[in-house]
Amino acid sequence: MTIEPKDITAFSNHMPDVVAIRHHLHRNPEIGLSEFKTSDFVAAQLEAMGYDVTRGLAGTGVVATLRNGSSARSIGIRADIDALPIHEETGADYASENPGVMHACGHDGHTAMLLGAAKIIADRRNFDGTIHLIFQPAEENFGGARIMIEDGLFERFPCDAVFALHNEPSLPFGHFVLRDGPIMAAVDECKITIHGHGGHGAEPQTALDPIVAGASIIMALQTIVSRNIHPLTPTVVTVGAFHAGVASNVIPETAEMLLTIRSFDADARDELEKRICLIAQGQAASYGMSVTLDYQRGYNPTVNHKAETDYIAGLAARFAGADKVIEMPRPTMGAEDFAYMLEERPGAYFFLGTKRTDNDPSLHHPKFDFNDDILPIGTSFWVELAEDYLKLA
Ligand SMILES: [Zn+2]
Ligand SMILES: [Zn+2]
Repeated sequence: MTIEPKDITAFSNHMPDVVAIRHHLHRNPEIGLSEFKTSDFVAAQLEAMGYDVTRGLAGTGVVATLRNGSSARSIGIRADIDALPIHEETGADYASENPGVMHACGHDGHTAMLLGAAKIIADRRNFDGTIHLIFQPAEENFGGARIMIEDGLFERFPCDAVFALHNEPSLPFGHFVLRDGPIMAAVDECKITIHGHGGHGAEPQTALDPIVAGASIIMALQTIVSRNIHPLTPTVVTVGAFHAGVASNVIPETAEMLLTIRSFDADARDELEKRICLIAQGQAASYGMSVTLDYQRGYNPTVNHKAETDYIAGLAARFAGADKVIEMPRPTMGAEDFAYMLEERPGAYFFLGTKRTDNDPSLHHPKFDFNDDILPIGTSFWVELAEDYLKLA
């Protein structure tokens, strides 16, 4: 690691606090929309720093506002605060004390870095305008960003632009990785239930076997991306679960499958839904069976804005060196509800590389543990962003 911008050294006396905050959050993870203690903790910290703290957006959301000088300019910086329903296996001495729940996506680190930056920003007051720090619940499941917007986020806290980051253990340490335009995919889900007719495994002619129909549906679904969608339009259809039957000699009554569907293009997204429904119904009908489909639209694609993306890339190059800024050749098929904030306001979302070794556990792995070595860099970068975006005249 060679990154040592001067401000990281200047802020180093704050870093033990940021590490302690990260470990406190890690020890006390909470699931989306139930981040009650996390929300209390975050709000108390920000109140002690002198921010105007507003609570209750999306239930557990916290917005902290600080004004300085006379400029009408404003910025929003967002951190997600929720954890995942995963049983932790890190063995860390600050491991989760909430069984079955863990910070396996590093939102503890995101929250700690923004709280660390909040303290430094408030102490220095080296900006002209209004800063809104947005601590958002339920990124992983319920779309906390969308709920905060429905609760009036940007009417109550107008932001000229919004920014957010995500740690990424597969990317080189201290690198800022981003792209203009689409950066993460839209995600939809579908549950398909095949209604057959159960019977004895030795007498299949008396039954309607939903497992055979299901297998046929799974294979036919593979043709949507390869045969119906334009070859240059990125899409994914994955059958992540297929459940049916309990015994070798029993034909079950029903079979059930769960799909995740990823896309960027709105027309392709509609086409995927149409084809999945047609194939499931048509395949089942050819075996004399029917299906029930529960198709749920999830997060929209996350699309960065050009001016703000260029701005972050330039700022990161000055902050960490041009060799630490990577433009992604293509988006990822993951998804992120910051998408909804970027539909409302200009802004940019980027990844911050946190790689330790080539075998780091991935995000959402029970052994994943946010890399504390990145805390000084992420914290200092948020300070740099706020003070540069709202530069003193
Ligand atoms: Zn996650
Ligand atoms: Zn995450």
